[in-house]
Amino acid sequence: MASLVETSLRVAATAGRRDKVALLAEFLSRVPPAEIQTATAYLCGIIPQRRLGVGFATLRNAAGEVAAEEPTVELSQIDSVFQQVAAVGGKGSAAEKRRLLAGLLARLTRDEQRYLFGLVSGEVRHGALEGVVTEAVALAAGLSPKRIRRAVMMAGDLTEVARAALQEGETGLSRYSVQLFRPVQPMLAGSADDETEALDELGEAALEWKVDGARVQIHKAGDEVRVYSRALNDVTAAVPEVVDMARSLPARELIVEGEVIALRADGTPLPFQTTMTRFGRRLDVDQARQTLPVTPLLFDLLYLDGTALLDEPYRRRFVQLGALAPEPLVVPRLVTGSRSDAAAFLATALERGHEGIMAKALDAAYESGRRGRHWLKIKPVKSLDLVVLAAEWGHGRRQGWLSNLHLGARNPVDGGFVMLGKTFKGMTDEMLAWQTTRLLELEAGRDAWTVYVRPELVVEVAFNDVQTSTQYPGGVALRFARIKRYRTDKNATDADTIDQVRKLLPQ
Ligand code: AMP
Repeated sequence: MASLVETSLRVAATAGRRDKVALLAEFLSRVPPAEIQTATAYLCGIIPQRRLGVGFATLRNAAGEVAAEEPTVELSQIDSVFQQVAAVGGKGSAAEKRRLLAGLLARLTRDEQRYLFGLVSGEVRHGALEGVVTEAVALAAGLSPKRIRRAVMMAGDLTEVARAALQEGETGLSRYSVQLFRPVQPMLAGSADDETEALDELGEAALEWKVDGARVQIHKAGDEVRVYSRALNDVTAAVPEVVDMARSLPARELIVEGEVIALRADGTPLPFQTTMTRFGRRLDVDQARQTLPVTPLLFDLLYLDGTALLDEPYRRRFVQLGALAPEPLVVPRLVTGSRSDAAAFLATALERGHEGIMAKALDAAYESGRRGRHWLKIKPVKSLDLVVLAAEWGHGRRQGWLSNLHLGARNPVDGGFVMLGKTFKGMTDEMLAWQTTRLLELEAGRDAWTVYVRPELVVEVAFNDVQTSTQYPGGVALRFARIKRYRTDKNATDADTIDQVRKLLPQ
């Protein structure tokens, strides 16, 4: 653990990205194989157990004034204590967790303790986030960063890929090519203000309706079909009509992607929340299928009968998709470079009750897991996905609930968050109850009015305008912000950035 902490401190004190990568690579090549996964996770500021069920304050208290003089503890020992802490449940679990952590912390030096506090509070700040660590893994393994990134997209986990790459090199990575029933991280979209900006950037592009449902990735081999959510969970049981649709497609093996949505009889979409009830637990699926049928609207084809299509240009993927799936199952699409045609297409999408449109580069590969500029979403309503940084206790009717949320945009430079404002508007009682429980789980500290949390929860926030501000640290604030919904399908790293917010300032 000591050499990880030392490396982290040196990385933090180094300005250049290349030097950071070199320091990390040098460290990674020295880590024993059994500890590579833990080391990679800690360097990215992540605890593999994700939730220990203890807050930062508990950890601080458990540390007390005690610290070791000399470093002796190995990473694997920390990992095994964290595993025990995460596994403790039931009555008296809080005390048991504290006891385990106190035992561990007493054996750590002050610097090591500080690193663990950072990990648990989600605030490791040495400027070595996943991108830099990925490059370091590549350098240490003697492989290209692109190769590592592709494997991470397939594996969905950098730590696993780091272990395979460092231990087995290229041979180890061959496991992570696209495979049926191993869902790939979805390609993500950037944003454009309007269709003109999108076409200026992409040239002639594929425009598609942006449908506000649930994203699914459907894998099929013969009669076997699995449907995965955006977070790559298996949701097959919830959507039998999607399974039937996939079975009916004339291909033996395929991976297709699309949006599943509940439509009204006239074809207009029901609200997002309504579609999502189909994915709720304890639902009578057969009955739900009758009362609230969902329709898949496909937009991409990633794999067909033994051939991976991820590196094919988009124009070929959608032509092949069109040859496979009947028109009503494919999202409406227009390939154009004309602004007026694009404007008309957007107007129709909005008229039909959809969110907006997507503009996609015709020559782009499927960039699994990446939010690039090859897909651009165009949504006229102003909304941002922000991260909850803290919440204040409510008054009056909201007494006892965590209500007023402090909202932050992502700072891509240091991986931190910049506060943009607060709001308690737009929340239903259900949301208040849910967020109170969830935010207390994420607690990192508190004062009389406010509970500070680890920056992990993403909310979609609607607002009227962005204005300059002397009060908030980013120099910008939201006007009339209201919560639209929690985006539990997104991580804080998917949240919108402070730069995107600044672009919304009136010119
Ligand atoms: P957002 O979640 O706001 O970042 O927007 C991106 C999401 O829009 C994707 O993850 C899909 O779930 C959804 N979406 C709706 N229609 C499309 C489409 N035609 N192509 C790609 N994604 C779409």
